[in-house]
Amino acid sequence: MSSIYIKNVNIINPFSEEPLKERHVLIENGRIKSLHTEESSLYKDHIVIDGEDDYLLPGFIDSHAHIMANGFHKEDIMKDPLSYYFYNAVSNMKATIDAGVTTVRDTGLADIGVKMAQEKKIFPAPRLNISIKPLAITGGHFDHYLNSGFDMEIAYPGFPVGTCDGVEGVLKKTREVIRARADFIKIMASGGILSPYTSPDIAQFNKKELKTIVDEAENHNLKVVAHCHSLEGIERCAKAGVKSIEHGTFIDKKASQLLAKKRMYLTPTLVVHHTLIKEGFPVWDNFADDKVKKLKEVVKIQKENIATAYEEGVTFLMGSDCGVIDHGRNLGELKYLVDVGLSPLEAIQAGTIEGARFFNQENDLGSIEEGKIADMIIVKENPIDKIESLANNDNILTVIQDGKILKHKPIF
Ligand SMILES: [Zn+2]
Repeated sequence: MSSIYIKNVNIINPFSEEPLKERHVLIENGRIKSLHTEESSLYKDHIVIDGEDDYLLPGFIDSHAHIMANGFHKEDIMKDPLSYYFYNAVSNMKATIDAGVTTVRDTGLADIGVKMAQEKKIFPAPRLNISIKPLAITGGHFDHYLNSGFDMEIAYPGFPVGTCDGVEGVLKKTREVIRARADFIKIMASGGILSPYTSPDIAQFNKKELKTIVDEAENHNLKVVAHCHSLEGIERCAKAGVKSIEHGTFIDKKASQLLAKKRMYLTPTLVVHHTLIKEGFPVWDNFADDKVKKLKEVVKIQKENIATAYEEGVTFLMGSDCGVIDHGRNLGELKYLVDVGLSPLEAIQAGTIEGARFFNQENDLGSIEEGKIADMIIVKENPIDKIESLANNDNILTVIQDGKILKHKPIF
């Protein structure tokens, strides 16, 4: 494995607004071997990157993305061969790396094969924590059965169907997803925007079902993450022991206090809603009117509600929901997190060290420290001064993962 010496960089860690100025970083065997204040000529045989006084940050962790997906259009599922879906995902992963994201918590569709391919470095891809297939109730968000009688759900050997109902049904499904080698369990605990004729403000899964899923997941030392817009759904999830709420649109003060008390995470996925409302849906999308109507309701109230959650002390994760929007737009979420009240440093924490903590990976990932895995990026501007600069992929100059250079502007 190649050794790398990065000289002349200012390190921004998620612990301080003040950069560590003019540092020199030695990477060996995929890890950060040492950080130096004095430049050394000892490492001439290493790959030397002159950081030119730019900024070095840990590789970002996107805690809500769908690396396999490209818009979740039912029309695509009908027309495309299954193999195309897999090949297409390779470019999704490259776009994610180019955006400075070196780890993804995949909230649905990435399977163990993709994770293995990433670990074998068959193509450039973010490190993956996978949930395989989200659990959904019959008729709920992510039940792909249409009133026409056609079922648009993607299922193939080793990749289970996600719908399940009742205590026995959800128990069996949780076990199936664990058998498929999930790193966490993703559930759909309310209606959603992209699923036709479900309402985001209606809770899905009853209390007994939720408790059954959480108990079984915990039995396997796995956490449960819930897509949930609905206030009732958020409360049910919190009481059942779910660890992370995704979207969280209708959250109020009381529910925020409950999340804070239980040290749960909130991944508000703001960029996806803003992008969809601005850019709309393709003209051939048969469900566009229904989606736009729901989006407008969500965007109207989301900012204020998520700001309340921040004020009440809930810990945030950065999640873009890329896969619904184009891959590579991941770090656009940071600016929206700042819009709801987080400081730029807190937004960076949500996208680095907190994402690592969720999976107890904070000793390996999430900051630039000696001994940690060398996942890092070099960027042009100081993001503490200008957080939106990270949303422009041209400002992400270099991406290193596992001590391997995956993007470096002057060379490639
Ligand atoms: Zn999602």
